[in-house]
Amino acid sequence: MPKITAIQTIRTRAAGRWVFVKVLTDQPGLYGIGSASDHYHSSTVITAIETIAPLLIGREAGAIEDNWQSVYTSGYWRNGSILNTALAGIDMALWDIKGKEAGMPVYELLGGATRSAVLAYAHAGGNDLTELEDDVRRYMEEGYQVIRCQLGNYGGGGFLPGAEAGQPKNAAPLERVFDDEAYLKNIPEMFAHLRDTVGFGPKLTHDVHEHLRPHNAVALAKLLEPYRLFFLEDLLSPEQVHWYRAVRQQCVTPQAMGELFINPHEYVPLITERLIDYVRVRVSKGGGITQCRKIATLCEWFGVHTAWQEGGDNDPVNQMAAVHLDLASTSFGVQEENHFTPEEYDLFPGFARLEGGYLYANSQPGLGIDVDEEKARALLDPALAARAYFMAEDRRVDGSIVRP
Ligand code: MG
Repeated sequence: MPKITAIQTIRTRAAGRWVFVKVLTDQPGLYGIGSASDHYHSSTVITAIETIAPLLIGREAGAIEDNWQSVYTSGYWRNGSILNTALAGIDMALWDIKGKEAGMPVYELLGGATRSAVLAYAHAGGNDLTELEDDVRRYMEEGYQVIRCQLGNYGGGGFLPGAEAGQPKNAAPLERVFDDEAYLKNIPEMFAHLRDTVGFGPKLTHDVHEHLRPHNAVALAKLLEPYRLFFLEDLLSPEQVHWYRAVRQQCVTPQAMGELFINPHEYVPLITERLIDYVRVRVSKGGGITQCRKIATLCEWFGVHTAWQEGGDNDPVNQMAAVHLDLASTSFGVQEENHFTPEEYDLFPGFARLEGGYLYANSQPGLGIDVDEEKARALLDPALAARAYFMAEDRRVDGSIVRP
């Protein structure tokens, strides 16, 4: 049985927002790769991995569950965003090692493929209805069956021009002001337009980014019911998920939630009380393949489906870990797409191929993906990596912050 000899980290993407774990073993050439990316806290996650490493050096790499439990409880406090990410990166690497040792892809170790490829959804957007409709049609032509529809950027559809929004006279000027009532008007109009023009053929979703006050969130879900969404995403902030009971009582619009969840106490009740339809935990934030395969199994018993979070700041290794879970899980629903540049893809031999609205894994042992460390070093821009990155702030007309 291979033993763990070292745990290293690889930081890349131009701004250094991607972190990968490399677990080395005492068997020549046998190592595993995992994703531990956190767009805002790369250095903190690296420090956490370096802190955990001495616990695992000398242990059997194949004892994945035992190693997971050991790291999970190693700091007494647990279920935090940073430590979950460090744990997930190590966990993925251990699954990669076990697959390579067995000569099988990870999805075979998880029970074998239940589907040929992974249904992926596209991100369509536009600053007005015409731009959005054009983008939706472009993705339809590319073969996407499921398309997320957004007006403008994060929080788009709810913005009023700052100067005309009735700000208090002593308020700091705002470029844009988020307004619940504007959102309640614009997003139903957006779907009315799309259903009128592209019809009910494409499966459409929308991401609220948790911006609305809870009673307005319930109202939006009800207003969107006639447009038969595939799902409505992040309708409520993590602090307000009890409102999903009211949503269920009011309408049948399917609900997707969970990309901000890190703790089982957040997602288990929503699954077991059947208050959501798709769980969207990010594999690397949930604790890796070991934890997410348990979430997928829990979903199966309660008729909930998985839609592991991906999107712009994620990386090809985390995407591949999700693809293995998707292939093996009967509770799979849909996979969020990622777009990487050709230079970024070039770092990752074996990356999942995205074509015609499906993601395809390869049949290589383990995760089937690697990180070219030389190219990873070359891509990193030290000046950009030294900067701090923070989530963009949206504010209401009185200047108070909107929680994402
Ligand atoms: Mg979201």
